[in-house]
Amino acid sequence: MEIKTRLDTFHQKLMGSKAKLIAVSKTHPVEVLQEAYQAGCRVFGENRVQELVPKYEALPKDIAWHLIGSLQSNKVKYIAPFISLIHSIDSLKLLETVHKEAGKHQRVIDCLLQIYIAQEDTKHGLSYQEAEELLASPALPTLTNVRIIGFMGMATFTEDKAQIRHEFQTLADFAKRIQQQVTPANVQISEISMGMSGDYEIAIEEGSTLIRVGSAIFGSR
Ligand SMILES: *Cc1c(COP(=O)(O)O)cnc(C)c1O
Repeated sequence: MEIKTRLDTFHQKLMGSKAKLIAVSKTHPVEVLQEAYQAGCRVFGENRVQELVPKYEALPKDIAWHLIGSLQSNKVKYIAPFISLIHSIDSLKLLETVHKEAGKHQRVIDCLLQIYIAQEDTKHGLSYQEAEELLASPALPTLTNVRIIGFMGMATFTEDKAQIRHEFQTLADFAKRIQQQVTPANVQISEISMGMSGDYEIAIEEGSTLIRVGSAIFGSR
């Protein structure tokens, strides 16, 4: 019942805040996800398509599945029938593929643009400028089977809380700025996906709406 205790603690902490919890279940077996489901968890995040699909098939169908890891165009078709939110859009080409595959299922798939906010070279994503260019692309309004609802970022892996806060703050400011712009109908910014086990408290203070928490719920991987 340890997972239940941790989940309850999170849900309590998040009451009165606008952030929602995504339980990042990557590497954990289906039984562990089942335990979280029984404890009330209905939103799971996975970072690999190969792992996400079998888990989707094995678990109840009222779960919202979020893809949080990098996505290859040739894998989009496997998740297009059911994925609830893709956090990791990093190119117009990928967005076009998602649009095409979503159309085959008469769906509109919600997506976040992943922004590279860390001072490391190991993390994926677009620069702020690249994200703006994508949002201004003439092709974007034609991609009617996708909807961009916000941005995702991963802070630098560091003990320096001021740096983490600065990175989250910059991402939140960017989201606010885009929100105030005139954008195509399929861009409706409301979500900022930021914060993991080590930094979700700072992320919530800086306006996160989706925290992606793995090890603080499921233990270390
Ligand atoms: C694994 C992962 C998380 C969760 O990390 P924890 O530190 O275990 O909470 C969040 N976001 C992404 C993109 C991840 O790959």
